[in-house]
Amino acid sequence: MTGYIHSIESFGTVDGPGVRMVIFLQGCPMRCQYCHNPDTWKMAGGTPMTAEELLKQFESSRNFYRGGGITATGGEPLMQLDFVTELFEAAKKKDIHTCLDTSGVMFHRNGPDYLNKIDRLLEHTDLVMLDIKHMDDPKHKVLTGQSNENILDFARYLSQKEIPVWIRHVVVPQITDQTPDLYRLGRFIGELKNVKALDVLPYHDMGKVKYESLGMDYPLKDTPPMSKEGAIAAKKIILSGIRDVRTGVPDRYCSQF
Ligand code: SF4
Repeated sequence: MTGYIHSIESFGTVDGPGVRMVIFLQGCPMRCQYCHNPDTWKMAGGTPMTAEELLKQFESSRNFYRGGGITATGGEPLMQLDFVTELFEAAKKKDIHTCLDTSGVMFHRNGPDYLNKIDRLLEHTDLVMLDIKHMDDPKHKVLTGQSNENILDFARYLSQKEIPVWIRHVVVPQITDQTPDLYRLGRFIGELKNVKALDVLPYHDMGKVKYESLGMDYPLKDTPPMSKEGAIAAKKIILSGIRDVRTGVPDRYCSQF
């Protein structure tokens, strides 16, 4: 089988544990306003590669990847579900750690065939890095062009299946930094049983340059970067939501209380 690869980062250090070969797959149905990789959106244009070719490249530098592995990201890797499954199955045969970095937006429960395919992929996935971009669905639609329904459902599904997950959230001034939204994100995460890490990242505008070079309008051109302190404060609010839900404290922002 052939996958369509946007690019490969040989020595990634932020997309999963250890040093990793990070494989950016072509295609994404989301249109996040802060996306750094708008050139991955269209399915057309990637370089066709097989799982064997990718793993050969990994094996040629295997010593550098001790404690690491491979990460499939994008774009949205679940747009090429069959290919990523083949890649991860082959990787596990070689005892390579596998990480799926996804928005989860492709997930659905419409029919057993799709769920069987997802289960087969998850059997060969050591870690999922899941981006939750906004807890509020209308705001999520504005930010990404898609509902968060499938994403939250995928998070619940991964929890049921006990697949280790790192949650990532980007804090954007005036878009994803409102206290009730962050707190509810925490409450949502607090219900999950498989979360191993929470990465709260400050929004930065380094993607701007790419939009300019592609002749595209940058949607957040009037939004300033988020400070590190702002991201730390946001993380504290998320953590308070996690704590509250786990200790039975009612939602502090629900008007009923
Ligand atoms: S999900 Fe990722 S690749 Fe897709 S638009 Fe959003 S940030 Fe970009």
